[in-house]
Amino acid sequence: MNLSVITRVFGVAAMVLSVFTYAQDKAELPEQTLFKNVNVFNGVDKQLYKNYFVLVEKNRIKAVSPEPIAANAKAVVVDGSGRTLMPGLIDAHVHLNLQYLNNPAAIDGVSNMTWEEIGAMAYDAAQEFLYSGFTTVRDLCGMHDGMRKHIESGTLIGPRMYLAGACISQTSGHGDWRTNAQVLGDDGNKVGQVQALGITTLADGADEVLKACRNNLAGGADFCKMMAGGGVTSMRDPLHSIQGTMDELKAMVTATSQWDTVGAVHAYHDDSVERALKAGMMSIEHGNLMVKKSTFKLVKKKGAFVVPAMAGFSEQLLKHPQYGNPDLPLRGKVMQIIENYDNWLKLANETNINIGYGTDVVVSSKLASRGIRDFQMGQFSEGFGNYKTLVALTSANGRLMALTGKNNPYPAKLGVIEQGAYADIILVDGNPLEDISVLGASFDMWAAPRASREIKSIPFVMKDGQVFLNKL
Ligand SMILES: [Zn+2]
Repeated sequence: MNLSVITRVFGVAAMVLSVFTYAQDKAELPEQTLFKNVNVFNGVDKQLYKNYFVLVEKNRIKAVSPEPIAANAKAVVVDGSGRTLMPGLIDAHVHLNLQYLNNPAAIDGVSNMTWEEIGAMAYDAAQEFLYSGFTTVRDLCGMHDGMRKHIESGTLIGPRMYLAGACISQTSGHGDWRTNAQVLGDDGNKVGQVQALGITTLADGADEVLKACRNNLAGGADFCKMMAGGGVTSMRDPLHSIQGTMDELKAMVTATSQWDTVGAVHAYHDDSVERALKAGMMSIEHGNLMVKKSTFKLVKKKGAFVVPAMAGFSEQLLKHPQYGNPDLPLRGKVMQIIENYDNWLKLANETNINIGYGTDVVVSSKLASRGIRDFQMGQFSEGFGNYKTLVALTSANGRLMALTGKNNPYPAKLGVIEQGAYADIILVDGNPLEDISVLGASFDMWAAPRASREIKSIPFVMKDGQVFLNKL
């Protein structure tokens, strides 16, 4: 055999071997798993179903019953010992690749980071979500389906992911993180690092929005996100600004609806929320500055969701070195939001709009990020009560994920314990309807964060029928 033949033979052998290894990463699921002696919170009803049985077959829930369920002889049996069995939690607003940047320059700091750093941090954040009971996250800026692909194949460990791809912003909008040189100087018209990495994209005019949105869909996005109004953390756009023309907003709705999915918008105040809803957007990220009842009513009428970052309403945010600094413009923006809390909460409850649960933590250290995440849950429950918080964390967020329609990467039900739903299940010590802290909720944003990624009172986490944590 000459050298080229040998190379070819080995090349083919190596390819076969690598394909084989890749496919083997996915764990073999037990045919059945039977949970007994559990109290079920099903994600919907305001009660625990005591002493229930839940049967999982492969990656789906097959039966839920107060009577013993006949399982296969080989079924794995999990004795819950009276613990609460509930759906895996869903966080509907995360930024995996912006969460742990641990960089005093905030998002601008990305300019000095490589993909290697950002990717490593993002993967750690993804794992932490899963081990703390979050079996699904929805990323609202910058994650394409690279990491998800490897989680789905079993090579990496993490939650299910719904992805928006690069968030789309107008020039000078909430997604414009270019340097001054890139905006005004010799580097004018060059893209910034945040854009170069595909975390945000700038688009002006309906055609560019169509293109940007379609690029995201081509990169594996399940839905798209656009900046429709001013932001708190960004410096080029005043908080009161309206972003995106009606044509641009409608262009995104066209591109997403042709894929049978939806558009989400970053929008705080009435004007930007109203315009987005009228264009056909279905998910309002933030909405914390909505003051008019008519805006809430429009959300209700359209069947859209608002996903507020509840920590933004808390005066505890003023202890933050930047958000609370009277010399920085951030403080003024934060104060507007804090001052609107009572009115906002009253209208949200009165109009009974769809509220999703999302934490939106960005550019914190790893431990601070966890502390703020835990606080979001406490703040949410103080506003809406434990039951509504639990619904938002499970079935309501499950309905929000399902808005991705035929583009839904996980088409069975999420966020509920019922026949046919995905087997995304956590076991909890205690009753979260009575005490939300058993899910990790904290009431102090700056409390000493947990040293562990896990929550002590969540000893068991199953995603897609596979057990990722079992301390029973
Ligand atoms: Zn966000």
